[in-house]
Amino acid sequence: MSAPRFQWPDGSHCACVVSFDVDAESAVLQVDRKYATHATTMSHQAYGPRVGVPRLLEQLRAAGIRATFFVPGFTAECYPDTVRRIVADGHEVGWHGYMHELPLDLTVAEQRSVLERAAEVLEPLTGERPVGYRAPWWQLTLESPGLLASAGFHYDSSLMDDDVPYLLASDAGTVVELPVHWSFDDWEQYGFFIDPPLGDSLEPPGKLLEIWQGELEAFREEGCLQVLTMHPFLSGRPARSRTIGKFVTFARELGGVWFATAREIAEHARGVLDDSGARRLRSALDPAYGMRDGDAT
Ligand code: ZN
Repeated sequence: MSAPRFQWPDGSHCACVVSFDVDAESAVLQVDRKYATHATTMSHQAYGPRVGVPRLLEQLRAAGIRATFFVPGFTAECYPDTVRRIVADGHEVGWHGYMHELPLDLTVAEQRSVLERAAEVLEPLTGERPVGYRAPWWQLTLESPGLLASAGFHYDSSLMDDDVPYLLASDAGTVVELPVHWSFDDWEQYGFFIDPPLGDSLEPPGKLLEIWQGELEAFREEGCLQVLTMHPFLSGRPARSRTIGKFVTFARELGGVWFATAREIAEHARGVLDDSGARRLRSALDPAYGMRDGDAT
């Protein structure tokens, strides 16, 4: 068997982050503010912080794992007690934009301003500055790594060009990247909306579990990082929420799977990775695209 792709602690073969994007109303309001008065559409989103998160916290407690919740500022302001409960259970809270703004639609100054609001909104609820970021719709811009480093973030979890952690370079310093993928996202299986049209899928929880388990077996053989992404308004429903416990049981039977928060994985990765291998985001049409930072300068 080939060498593991990453060095994990305490004899672990691979790692897994269970993460939640607590979009709630913000992801729909970002599409159009007119949905603010669509009571049923808003109620579909409100289910996440109202009912989904408490149920998911129970499932996580029963499974004995800690997770990372990426929370938009608007969600935190509407549901401060939900954020406090997440923190009280020992989970990490990261930033997910203010109103789930698509960074690609923002100027650099606007992107910076959204990132700088993170501590102002979250710190009073969590007691500490957030160090983790996930871009709304997973859409980073070329400026994101520098803006994140300047705003005091330690890691991002939005890109897809690897399945182990790596460093993102910028003139303001490096941030750790914890890559994601659509196949580990519950939106593709459970996202069903009439208006706005953000999905038309209502798959059974067993399908998501099968995908996660199949990839975990392969990730474990190769030493990769599996970042699961769920949304409480989708995965917080009763049968769906139980997928977490089934997956953790499966992983424990396999053995050697390190479950940790994204922050813990990023801290470990920072100690293992070398700045010389950091990757700089560039336009795909830039002649230096694909080169390591050191090679291009
Ligand atoms: Zn989101």
